[in-house]
Amino acid sequence: DEKKLEKLSIMLNDVITLLRSQAKLFNIEISLCMDQDQLIYCDRTQIKQVLINLLKNAIEEMKDGGTIEVVLTNNEDYCSISIIDEGPGIPEHILHKLKEPFFTTKKDGTGLGLMISYKIIENHQGNIEIHQNEDKGSTFKINLPVYST
Ligand code: ADP
Ligand code: MG
Repeated sequence: DEKKLEKLSIMLNDVITLLRSQAKLFNIEISLCMDQDQLIYCDRTQIKQVLINLLKNAIEEMKDGGTIEVVLTNNEDYCSISIIDEGPGIPEHILHKLKEPFFTTKKDGTGLGLMISYKIIENHQGNIEIHQNEDKGSTFKINLPVYST
């Protein structure tokens, strides 16, 4: 594969810029919160694909508009990108099916976006956590190892 050192801020800004106008059509704002940039050893195209998949899922669930928050946090070893939506959340009984290929609840969904995202993140020695938000919606949190010298 094509792994290089990449700045997370550039990948996030590229993807958010790409999706912001589409989100606007549905009255959805995408906000980005990061106080520190991060270098990641990764395939930029693949990581951007994961971000697009997760943001598109968030947009597709937010039929009444709202805000998607993208929050970057980091500790010594890992950095995390949380995508926090205000959709209906994920029913408990389908949680275990999300990784499966072709599982979709959408009329014209492919059910491949999450499976591909999990594969890509695993290929980067990371993982994806799913949390139910306290108030509304769900959070997909991508954890990736950070580059250190
Ligand atoms: P698709 O988007 O084609 O349905 P995905 O693999 O991207 O395929 O997602 C699979 C399913 O997971 C979706 O159909 C939906 O039921 C559920 N899902 C994914 N993201 C979210 C989310 N942010 N909120 C609620 N449900 C979600
Ligand atoms: Mg999808």
